[in-house]
Amino acid sequence: MLENLDFTIKELLKIKYSADELNKILDKAENFEGLNEKEVAGLITCENSEIKERIFKIAKKIKSHIYGDRVVMFAPLYVSDYCVNNCSYCGFNCKNKAERKKLTMREVEEELFVLEEMGHKRIALEAGEDPVNCPIEYILEVLRTIYNFKTKNGEIRRANINIASTTVENYKKLHDAGIGTYILFQETYHKESYEKYHLGGPKSNYNYHLTAFDRAMEAGIEDVGAGALFGLYDYKYEILGLLLHNKHLEEKYKVGFHTVSVPRIREAEGSTQKEFEHAIDDETFKEIVAILRLAIPFTGIIISTRENEEMRKTLIDLGISQVSAGSMVEVKGYTAKEKHESQFNVSDQRTPNEVIMWLMEEGLIPSFCTACYRKGRVGDRFMSLAKSGNIKNVCLPNGLLTLKEYAMDYGDEKIKEVSDKLINDKLNDIGNPEIREKTAQYLKDIENGERDKFF
Ligand code: SF4
Ligand code: SF4
Repeated sequence: MLENLDFTIKELLKIKYSADELNKILDKAENFEGLNEKEVAGLITCENSEIKERIFKIAKKIKSHIYGDRVVMFAPLYVSDYCVNNCSYCGFNCKNKAERKKLTMREVEEELFVLEEMGHKRIALEAGEDPVNCPIEYILEVLRTIYNFKTKNGEIRRANINIASTTVENYKKLHDAGIGTYILFQETYHKESYEKYHLGGPKSNYNYHLTAFDRAMEAGIEDVGAGALFGLYDYKYEILGLLLHNKHLEEKYKVGFHTVSVPRIREAEGSTQKEFEHAIDDETFKEIVAILRLAIPFTGIIISTRENEEMRKTLIDLGISQVSAGSMVEVKGYTAKEKHESQFNVSDQRTPNEVIMWLMEEGLIPSFCTACYRKGRVGDRFMSLAKSGNIKNVCLPNGLLTLKEYAMDYGDEKIKEVSDKLINDKLNDIGNPEIREKTAQYLKDIENGERDKFF
């Protein structure tokens, strides 16, 4: 399927359905059944405003039914900006002569200290590609440092990792080191555009990049996180590319994407490309998130601090399930006094406390949960629990428990007050009486000093 991607997508983009047919497709989506690529092609090529309105309504319904009010929090940790690639949209590209940095293990600990003091339990480890300055052994050492470093009540419980496409052998090493999700963005599925923006280095090999998840899954990694950098090419093409990639993995490895990230292109200092003819406006961006929510209802969708506060709220309603907070997108970003080169410009610069308060005031539950990974609910085991609808029986209680921990360990008086009220209200939403009772007990245990209670 991946071999004929371009032909398949171009054929799909010719599809036209009548309004009746599109409404039947939307009925299917509304029933939480997901959509195939043909159905999605029909929806994204339609200009009917009533259909578009219905897409947004259903996206909100799916988000609320499957994910409830919880929003999972994470933060990136940039460990090295050495990079041998020349991606023209990125500030770390090898043509940028700015000084490069790689954290020592001592510096990794210093960054972790700040992240743990912010209350983060889930990070995304980020590094540029440079086999000499940032070999796989360095990444493995960083992972060991992350999992071993603990502050008073702080610890990173899940380290997802976003590093370059590599070999089965290296993926096995990452798997054995206990990574969470292996994240890799295809950037653009359109080969010609891919080659236009990736001007040198190993990443410029489109096919090697596209088949990275195959090698990761052959190596035993079960949770993979995809993404497209919206704005490099036509967003309709990218949506279909993502869905066909997901389908390929489902057919071959019985499990598709664990998450999908939806960054959109922004100018970065040090990048050589400043203008993008396919740049995405806000309305289109909302449509992208809504369509993905309909098509792959059980796959987490992630946005970063590239988006501002208002956009983040709208997108959370439409389907986003994970957001970053307090993010620094440069090496030594959490501890350095001076600003250095960053991978992209950040729009949402609020602290985690501010983001947490904002989410709670919106009636949402900021969740620091990492339970599935630690309970072995990964890959197809995770997906079958998600598809059965039973995942919410654990997500909500875990969200409440981790919010309680956050408030106790990192919150000010206001956070404690608002979170206590929210937790009490939401406790009643736990449908299963046994789990509700156990959650109430765990909350008391946390109040009494215990930590890391989860289902
Ligand atoms: Fe390097 Fe990644 Fe930036 Fe490309 S996008 S230049 S691979 S850090
Ligand atoms: Fe994510 Fe699993 Fe926690 Fe739910 S229970 S928030 S799916 S880790």
